[in-house]
Amino acid sequence: MNGIDHPTWCSPRLCTVVDTLPADGGEHRSEPINIDLRLVVTDRGRLSPSGIGSAYITQAACPWPTNTFLRLEVPGNETSIPLVQAAEILAQLNDLIHEGTQS
Ligand SMILES: [Zn+2]
Repeated sequence: MNGIDHPTWCSPRLCTVVDTLPADGGEHRSEPINIDLRLVVTDRGRLSPSGIGSAYITQAACPWPTNTFLRLEVPGNETSIPLVQAAEILAQLNDLIHEGTQS
């Protein structure tokens, strides 16, 4: 890579940070993970026609500090959640799922 500091999760294959200092352009990006969405439905039908979504970590490269996001993608839709908030949301969902599976 270059003189720019890359987060440990950043994939050299997917990183688009411009090779200049200070960093100003592009994004650090982790390798994606696939998410099985075959059983996920919305009021309009299947969330993902292919049944596959993906998630990865991303952070814009700017001269100033930027948030790190969890990006969730399904065909035609993309959602970015600040990583700190994503951890809180997942913990809340985990608690809710745990409660729902107790009976
Ligand atoms: Zn990077």
